[in-house]
Amino acid sequence: MIEESIPGTVPNWIGGEQSEALSGKVFDKLSPHSGKPLYQVVRSMAGDIERAVRVAREAQPGWAGLTPVRRGEVLHDIARLMRRDQEDIAAVVALETGMSFTAAMGETGAAIAQGEFMAGEGRRFYGRTTTSAIPHRHASTVRQPVGVAGLIIAANTPIANVAWKVFPALICGNTAVLKAAEDTPATAWLFGRIAQEAGVPAGVLNIIQGQGEEAGAPLVAHPGVDVVSFTGSTAVGRRIAAVAGERLARVSLELGGKNALVVCEDADLENALHWTLLAAFSNAGQRCAAASRIIVFDAIYEPFHDRLIERVRRLRVGPDDGDDLGPVINQRQLDNLLAFIARAKEAGAVIASGGCRLDDEAHAKGFYLAPTIIEGAGPHDEISVTELFGPVTCLYRVGGFAEALHMVNDSPYGLTAAIHTGSIHRATEFTQQVQAGVAVVNGGTHGSEPHMPFGGLKQSGNGSREPGTEALDVYSELKDIYIHSDPGQL
Ligand code: NAD
Repeated sequence: MIEESIPGTVPNWIGGEQSEALSGKVFDKLSPHSGKPLYQVVRSMAGDIERAVRVAREAQPGWAGLTPVRRGEVLHDIARLMRRDQEDIAAVVALETGMSFTAAMGETGAAIAQGEFMAGEGRRFYGRTTTSAIPHRHASTVRQPVGVAGLIIAANTPIANVAWKVFPALICGNTAVLKAAEDTPATAWLFGRIAQEAGVPAGVLNIIQGQGEEAGAPLVAHPGVDVVSFTGSTAVGRRIAAVAGERLARVSLELGGKNALVVCEDADLENALHWTLLAAFSNAGQRCAAASRIIVFDAIYEPFHDRLIERVRRLRVGPDDGDDLGPVINQRQLDNLLAFIARAKEAGAVIASGGCRLDDEAHAKGFYLAPTIIEGAGPHDEISVTELFGPVTCLYRVGGFAEALHMVNDSPYGLTAAIHTGSIHRATEFTQQVQAGVAVVNGGTHGSEPHMPFGGLKQSGNGSREPGTEALDVYSELKDIYIHSDPGQL
């Protein structure tokens, strides 16, 4: 049982060793399913960040001195050990998030795929060779490391979030300080243990446990951190951009979404229902790419609505493999969701399904919200323009394509969007005109692949794309090289 090997107090990994926080303080990690403490976690602060960044800086030249191919081999070994330990990792992910073991296995598989893809980048790592206007001058580019990467992640898909940041940062020759999400500390700790076993040199990957203000903020502000990559809320991302911008550190922001899924009257309704349920409620709606606005053509609104409500009421909520969705990550998030729902009701929206905490014996102690469908909210109401990050979605009725597209784009966010239609014309126009970093036809709003760039427009990010080959642009500097040869010297 891997759960038994999680330390009673989850430590940091600094310089290849596990360590307590200098403050000596700890906090409790609670089970989202039972509400009971699982273990304690060290509460790192500026002094711990200082140590970790120093160690990362010292290790960086040695790591950068390895060839990208060699670095790729080390990353490949991490991925290989992750595959060996896939069930253990998934068990920890399930324990910390309350998602089912099967869902956690899927997420862990995606994290491994990310590792394998980035390991392979060590043998590509392409620059550009091009022409010069000047005779006997040869122009090309190479990638070089940025330095020390400060990585800060959310808890929603914890092992995937670690993988999306650590693998591209390391393949590029950076060393890293990862601030684990406070709700999923053991997942990050376990990754650190695997990296150690795979032979990642001491100091190359340091993992810090702690709270956002106490451990995340000092990492962002540290002058020894050359690139900050953040996955989390738009509000925190905005502050990170301001602090890092002050010292012109590079920043990559993967932020929130208010993603729309459009159902046209010519859609395959069964397929649209299937993807609506998955996109809105899988992982308890805790996905940046979750579908939180379902925009339905008037002509099929009633049948779609009725079938959706019926199916939502049949969703099984719990931590087991037969369940469709689990709890949300913590009490604060549950309270936030309930407050949003109450305000939407006050503003005139109708709760078509759910809307309350599950208080039966099986769920009462956990952070369980009934899967919730809201109708009748205005397109600019709080609930329509704010990311909730939970199993809550709103239904909207539109007259046709133009109105639907306008509603999709009339949002502060621009992460992902989907359309369900049988028309190649609608599908093509939608994918071309929608203001989102990801556009999907006849599928869900989520489900990005590790070799594809992911990121959003507007308040969903700052224009960077991770992972995919494009992540290399976040974690490397391009250098132009011009070589002049002299034919007279031949
Ligand atoms: P959050 O912004 O509250 O926290 C995310 C991380 O930032 C945590 O590790 C936290 O400790 C840290 N943090 C908090 N305050 C900080 C500060 N002042 N300085 C530095 N670090 C700080 O987000 P959350 O509620 O934990 O996660 C949910 C959010 O993450 C949602 O908005 C979701 O859309 C977003 N998300 C985005 C993506 C993406 O790829 N676009 C993926 C997953 C989640």
